[in-house]
Amino acid sequence: MKVTKENLNVGYTPMGTPLEILKYELDSEVPGKTVYIQSGIHGGEVTQWILHELYHFLERKMISGKVVLVPCANPVSWTQRAYYSTNGKFDFYMGKDWNRNFPGNPEGSMGERIAAVLFGLAKQADFALDLHTSRHSIPFGIFSRQTYLSWVKTAGVSYNQFIDMGANSSYKNTLNACLDDAGVPNLCIECGSHDSYEADNVQEVYEAIRRLLAELKIVRAEDTRKAPDKVRIFSKTAKYHARKGSLIRLAKSLGDEVRVSEDLFYYFDNNDLGKITSEKARHNGILFKTSPTYIYWSGDDVLQLLLQDDVQEI
Ligand SMILES: [Zn+2]
Repeated sequence: MKVTKENLNVGYTPMGTPLEILKYELDSEVPGKTVYIQSGIHGGEVTQWILHELYHFLERKMISGKVVLVPCANPVSWTQRAYYSTNGKFDFYMGKDWNRNFPGNPEGSMGERIAAVLFGLAKQADFALDLHTSRHSIPFGIFSRQTYLSWVKTAGVSYNQFIDMGANSSYKNTLNACLDDAGVPNLCIECGSHDSYEADNVQEVYEAIRRLLAELKIVRAEDTRKAPDKVRIFSKTAKYHARKGSLIRLAKSLGDEVRVSEDLFYYFDNNDLGKITSEKARHNGILFKTSPTYIYWSGDDVLQLLLQDDVQEI
């Protein structure tokens, strides 16, 4: 296997420092498919644990094709730090989600320049993966076309959300939606929680990527583990907001099943010291995403359920 490392320039800071995206190309030197895997368009979304595992695996087991790895897709979002927290979801200059600049423009804003370089790599692939993390969450796949169901099944992440990015204009400048338009099948995987190391989640996504690579004949099927029997898809979710500014503690853990009228979370209100009030579930579902804080203003998102009556096994 031949490995080529390349720094792709996207611009300069006012100090004169180059802004570069580091790309690895792992070439088996045997003709085959090309896979593009991107991580960290949003600063603080620590998914590179998976790429470390994957790199080590491919060094030993690659049999055909190429894998292009971009471990840190955004040289600006990772610099957006405040104390110990990397706040890399939105561009602080433009106020815009960093994943809404695709397909990009080499003469546009910094976000569009970054997107143009990334999209230039991704659109050449036979299959592309965009790795993210989501607040505090269980791992889940996101797929944007029903025609990708066989890829979802092959990957075998336990839960997978369908978002019709073509119909929903707020997604039209994501990498996934632009790859759909370019004819490149693709998945997004939310690999777990922000700025964390969750060994089971790393393992689940790592195994999923290995199965996708086996499907594309880049590695052998016998070098992968079988997908779990239950792979589920869903499209409906319910968001719960804080009714008032308060400290909030959850009554449930990520991945728990929730039934109507069960306690979901507890308010600890400074206007009512000593009294704890509960928020009850209004849906049957699975707790799949929570906010990474105990501190809530009125109306803030506290958690999301994926709805039980909408879950299908595939
Ligand atoms: Zn993200």
